[in-house]
Amino acid sequence: MSTNFRPSDLVPAGFIAERITHIDDETCILLSRAGATASCPACGRMSRTVRSRYCRQVADLPLSGRRVRLLVRTRRFTCDAVLCGRQIFAERFGDVLPPYARRTGRLEHLVHHLALALGGRPAARFAQRLMLPVSNDTLLRVIRRRGLPPSIPPSVIGIDAKHLVACWPNPPKDIAAAAGITLRQLQWFTTERASLDGSARYDLTRLLGIEYDERMGGYTPKGPYVLIARKAQAIEAIYQEISGGGDACPCELVPAQGQADPSWRYVLINAHSTPPTIVMAPRGEAITERLSDLLMNYEGIQQVSPALYRDVVTTCARACQTPKANSREMTEFAKRYESHWTDCAWLPD
Ligand SMILES: [Zn+2]
Repeated sequence: MSTNFRPSDLVPAGFIAERITHIDDETCILLSRAGATASCPACGRMSRTVRSRYCRQVADLPLSGRRVRLLVRTRRFTCDAVLCGRQIFAERFGDVLPPYARRTGRLEHLVHHLALALGGRPAARFAQRLMLPVSNDTLLRVIRRRGLPPSIPPSVIGIDAKHLVACWPNPPKDIAAAAGITLRQLQWFTTERASLDGSARYDLTRLLGIEYDERMGGYTPKGPYVLIARKAQAIEAIYQEISGGGDACPCELVPAQGQADPSWRYVLINAHSTPPTIVMAPRGEAITERLSDLLMNYEGIQQVSPALYRDVVTTCARACQTPKANSREMTEFAKRYESHWTDCAWLPD
């Protein structure tokens, strides 16, 4: 029997552990996938042309009583096939680390069984003792995604809706009016104190761009949106949802020439293969200075053509006019730039 121990033995097969650091009660392992090539998800052709890299953060099984966070160096490749419509794609890691996942497959498996055995809140408390970084909401989501026993009620629609309302450009009373309900009905529904009847719920979920997701087995915010950074917790939660746990490289857009908007900063949320969402951050406010911490994998400032910048500013202005204009204007915006984000993360230049 071999007694040689290598750090790479700790991480999922096919990955190389590059560096291990301990911060407080957490172990961070920087890793990358072995191999110089990846196959394009659209045409299947192997590419070895790496365009850029970003870092995905995912939770993994605990180690010696410490939480484990994996920092996965992920490469963006260029597809060289002449007729392939996908120019850039991020490498994929299969079931070990599915796209958009914020946990490794092996941790997700464990969490699922814990939730099935104990149910939401008791499982969440036990998970704390086991140093598994999951909340009650997460446990419910995992159950819905991976199969739902009949005894557990499926609806936690309110959590994302509450955060969305907090980031929506228009005040809650305008959102309620546009959905044909009272402000109180909206507040009670989004804090899970009361439900809404079928048609009001339908109108509200359409307005907020929340859709039933078969794969997730629950409601998720789909966007695309213009959001305003007001509350740290809300903007962080919505970003996590839209980006599948931080699988994006959000950047602030500034014009390569000419003046930037004097009132707002514009941050593009460019999750992989997902229509873009834009976060408007008021200049000079404390929350704006915190965005680089709140939006995981934040990439900083990106200079863009004056034409794109103008389009962003005018689209946001139109999207803010009424609650219903938001998704409509952003959907049109996403269509205009569809080739930039389909099957890759949009990096404007
Ligand atoms: Zn291709």
